[in-house]
Amino acid sequence: MSTILSVPLVNDHLDVCICGNPLYAHNSQCVACGAEVGFDPVSQRVVSFATDPVTGYWHTTIPELSGQAFRMCLLRKTACNCNWMLRAETNGDHCLSCQLTQLIPQLGIPGNAKLWGRAEAAKRRVLIQLLRLGLPMKSKSASPTGLGFKFMASLPGELVLTGHEDGVITLNISEADDSEREAMRERMGENYRTLAGHIRHELGHYYWDLLSHDESWLEIFRSCFGDERQNYDTSLQNHHQNGAPSNWAQTYISAYASSHPWEDWAETFGHYLHLEEGLSLARHFGLEPNDLRLFAAEFNVATLPATVDQSAGHAFIADVNRWIRLSLLINDLAEGLGQPHPSPFVLNVATVAKLWQVHSSLRKLSQKN
Ligand SMILES: [Zn+2]
Ligand SMILES: [Zn+2]
Ligand SMILES: [Zn+2]
Repeated sequence: MSTILSVPLVNDHLDVCICGNPLYAHNSQCVACGAEVGFDPVSQRVVSFATDPVTGYWHTTIPELSGQAFRMCLLRKTACNCNWMLRAETNGDHCLSCQLTQLIPQLGIPGNAKLWGRAEAAKRRVLIQLLRLGLPMKSKSASPTGLGFKFMASLPGELVLTGHEDGVITLNISEADDSEREAMRERMGENYRTLAGHIRHELGHYYWDLLSHDESWLEIFRSCFGDERQNYDTSLQNHHQNGAPSNWAQTYISAYASSHPWEDWAETFGHYLHLEEGLSLARHFGLEPNDLRLFAAEFNVATLPATVDQSAGHAFIADVNRWIRLSLLINDLAEGLGQPHPSPFVLNVATVAKLWQVHSSLRKLSQKN
């Protein structure tokens, strides 16, 4: 199986509790034996822990981590419900994920705590993917080009807009309210609106900033996504007034992507993380999409620029085709179970070429990291 797009997992085996029960990224207790469970961002493993009554530190019995002492994140027993661990010797009381949070909503206001908890859970899940991909995710206090999150609720007369500015991602926690998010999705005429999708999109803006210091990268970006120097405010205003061009689906991943090259990049970046996550999970659980009994139209390597290294290009296209097969399966599975399609997207030739640009840009970023 190709390892070009879906990078090999640091942890490429199933995580299980000491009792043998499988563990998942969101677990903070084993549902079978009640053991405390946490995620160690260093080894990228979900493991069960027992406390050392003398030191108060936590230990796990899996051989690779047996000599290591851990502490639980300070926000574990809060509405954040954080299940990430810290190595005992590290400074501070907040895990890698919680260190990135700069602002939380007023928890005294009814409902805010629950919504904040859901938003943090979505963030942790996406951060696990960034760790796997080896992408930079230092906090603002550790690096001036670092990353931060603000989780905010609108107040009367003060509307909070979800967005990115200078490494800080602001998320309106109403997006964690299923009925509000769904109503907004309907109003905006979107096919897909999720917390993970928002976080992935805004991360796209963050990584664009990191990449765009390099003039030669900018040139490649412009040849693929267009010139981002066109007026952003006017472009967005135009999009909100007139909507996307009727033929947007031939060249973009979403209607919103057509509003401005920055948004095209962020939407395409978000979709790259979306399909990379899907492919990695399938691979982790031993599902080979090429073995599925279904018909899928396929892309070929001629979709990519002629300058692309042939073997890397072939492997990338093979993974894109795997993803198409996998997404057909998960959409039909979900529909059969009465749920909306988890991946209501149709790829086109132009978008596949843009996904390649995201893919090769992220590899560059991860190699530098
Ligand atoms: Zn257990
Ligand atoms: Zn934490
Ligand atoms: Zn955006």
